[in-house]
This record gives sequence, C-alpha cells and structure tokens, in this order.
Amino acid sequence: MNKAIFLDRDNTLIEDKEGHIHEIEKFKLLDGVIEGLKKLSETDYKLIIVTDQGGGIGRGLYTEEDYEKFNNHMLNIFKENGIRIDKVYHCPHHPDLNCSCRKPKPGMLLKAKEEFDVDINKSWFLGDKVRDIETGKSVNVKMIGVIGYEEDREKLESANPDYVVDNFLEAVEIILK
Ligand SMILES: [Mg+2]
Ligand SMILES: [Zn+2]
Repeated sequence: MNKAIFLDRDNTLIEDKEGHIHEIEKFKLLDGVIEGLKKLSETDYKLIIVTDQGGGIGRGLYTEEDYEKFNNHMLNIFKENGIRIDKVYHCPHHPDLNCSCRKPKPGMLLKAKEEFDVDINKSWFLGDKVRDIETGKSVNVKMIGVIGYEEDREKLESANPDYVVDNFLEAVEIILK
C-alpha cells in the first residue's frame, strides 16, 4: 500500500485572499510552499491535491475550462521547480447539491485511496480550514491545520486536528520527523 499527503489548495498552497481564485495573473504561491513541496517530492508519499471548486464552478463564477487552465499553470510551476504532484482532485459541484466530494465529505480522499491504494491511517492531510480538518478526521488521516487568512489557531484547534502550525514548512517538518 502507499502513503499519501493530501493537500488542500487555496490558502494552503496558493494565496486566495479574495476567494474563488481562478485567474492565472493572480496566481501566487504561499511562503515556503516550493521549498516544502520539493522536500516532500523526495519522499515516497503520494502527493495529492484535493480542492473544492464548487463555490466557483458550481455557482457559475468561472468555468471548468478556467479551472483547468489555472490548474495547468500551477502544475507547470511545480514541475519547473522539480516538484512531483501525483494527482489533483477537484469537486466542481454547487454547494447545495450535497455531493459526496465537497469537503467536509471525504469523497476525494476515498477516490484517491482506491486509485493509489492508499493506507489512509499512515497518510496526512494539510488544510487551512475547519472543513479540511473535519474531512481528515472523518477518515482518520493524520491532520495538520495550517493557519491561513480565514481561520486562526483557536478556530482550527477547536476542530481537534493532530497539529496546528503557523505555516507550510512547519507542517512539512512534522511529517518528515
Ligand atoms: Mg483552503
Ligand atoms: Zn462534489
């Protein structure tokens, strides 16, 4: 079986202060993300991004095609920096549809578990929101809350993750320990 590190995208890897980011011109990685992902790329963990895009695609703020363009831009930058991302899963569904993949539902994690034969209990999930923590906890993955723009330490700790850290590199250090 494989181990995996599940990564939330918005405000965990890339800056999304205004919400619903989809414009390549606004693409900006958060501090330490390149360095941290490089280190993780050298491990035998599968690196899997899981991102909710239903608030944008589902609501019609941008299209699936816009999302793909933005996603490809991100993946190119990672590639240029020697970073391996094994897969990106996204949920495109309108928040009201009650699909099985929008976080805090664990649908994307379960899909990855199938596709990559992932041992969830030996895997990690990094995210900046309580919803991420709830997703991780529902399948018993080791959960690190990374403090971002929207939710502070107190809020993240209230959801009982295994760790709360101030930035991405700190999370990477915990995983590599
Ligand atoms: Mg996020
Ligand atoms: Zn969905």
